Amino acid sequence: MAKIKTSYFCQSCGAQSAKWIGKCPACGEWNTYVEEVVQREEVTPTTAWKVGSSTAQVSNKPKPIADISFQEQQRVVTQDQELNRVLGGGIVPGSMVLIGGEPGIGKSTLMLQIALSLRGMKVLYVSGEESEQQIKMRAERLTAQTSDCFILTETGTQNIFKQIEMVRPQVLIIDSIQTLHSSFIESGAGSVSQVRECTAELLKFAKESGTPVFLIGHITKEGNLAGPKILEHMVDTVLQFEGDRHMTYRILRTTKNRFGSTSELGIYEMLGTGLREVSNPSEILISQREDAFSGIAIGATLEGNRPLLIEVQSLVTPATYGTPQRTSTGYDAKRLNMLLAVLEKRGGYRLGAQDVFLNIAGGLKVEDPALDLAVCASILSSFEDMAIPSTAAFAAEVGLGGEVRAVNRVENRISEAEKLGFTDIYISKYNKKGLDFSKFSINIHAFGRLEEVFSNLFG
Ligand SMILES: [Zn+2]
Repeated sequence: MAKIKTSYFCQSCGAQSAKWIGKCPACGEWNTYVEEVVQREEVTPTTAWKVGSSTAQVSNKPKPIADISFQEQQRVVTQDQELNRVLGGGIVPGSMVLIGGEPGIGKSTLMLQIALSLRGMKVLYVSGEESEQQIKMRAERLTAQTSDCFILTETGTQNIFKQIEMVRPQVLIIDSIQTLHSSFIESGAGSVSQVRECTAELLKFAKESGTPVFLIGHITKEGNLAGPKILEHMVDTVLQFEGDRHMTYRILRTTKNRFGSTSELGIYEMLGTGLREVSNPSEILISQREDAFSGIAIGATLEGNRPLLIEVQSLVTPATYGTPQRTSTGYDAKRLNMLLAVLEKRGGYRLGAQDVFLNIAGGLKVEDPALDLAVCASILSSFEDMAIPSTAAFAAEVGLGGEVRAVNRVENRISEAEKLGFTDIYISKYNKKGLDFSKFSINIHAFGRLEEVFSNLFG
């Protein structure tokens, strides 16, 4: 009997160390190392998943690249258009997809709904979180059509694989990876080494059997996937399910995808009967208003391949208590400070003594730099208390010199704005090259400097 072997793991990034360290050299976090038992009972490399007859037996040897035949992977196109979009066009056989999100956001509802709507496919839904009855109750609420869906409440991977060999599912869903436990590792469920081991076993199963596996993972308060970052490296695709628990909209965002582009976005509305796909998100992201208020500007952004018109709201008021406050929701606070500095220095607007509150409507988080001009316009609109016409949109980056910079794929942004009934769009004059204005009926205002945009807007 070998003596118990332990090691220390960073709970934030999964780095391993023989002894306890205060600061993780890998991710820089403090006090994240926890001792875990890692002793393996035996050294057999094939642990839990063995496939009797499958592609696993094909021995690998080097091949000339010219001899490798290329074929489009046969994706499973689901009924859920938003899911297809974020996966890059459907489920890839043998792929492993991680769905992360805060507890209570609706990950289980989303996955159960997907499981129920996969018509003609045998799905095994393994839950370590809820009882069969609870899952049945949830399924009753959903309007999705019932399919060949099996429910298993189990947390031990060895038993799960035993059941898999009997059921032979075409899709496997694990709710959640943090509840799984492998008997090859001695530490508790949810610990870094357990999460890593269970994921490795499931990954082996996915790759050897060609079965797509969906893992649900919880997210910590800091917004990281609980336990290890290493999980993100192991899987093929990482989807984040986000949104405000108190609001009805949910966003499914691709942050990593070996089979498609990242930063794709799927939008759902949480209803009593489950999640409804929102196919025209711009309509919900722009608040319905009849009068134009100051502080509101609409930005034409791109999330992945999808153009979205997003409402930026600002409130600029004189600071009453010493240091002015700068608060930003859904937009990078550092970028906001930078734009405020540009407005102050290049535009001469005295924003230094003002509180500035910025909010992206709809609970969205936006990183597209093309939103810069809308942010600047919204701040200035509130500062000057002059409303921007509700039919105007913006799509340009703002540089440190106060220059209005070109953005990628401006045509998509312009045509989306036009489609939604906007009459004016403000872009960079550097985007004009090669742009055929005649095909748009929307008025395109192209400027090179912030001051020019503002004098056109506010006179
Ligand atoms: Zn770390």
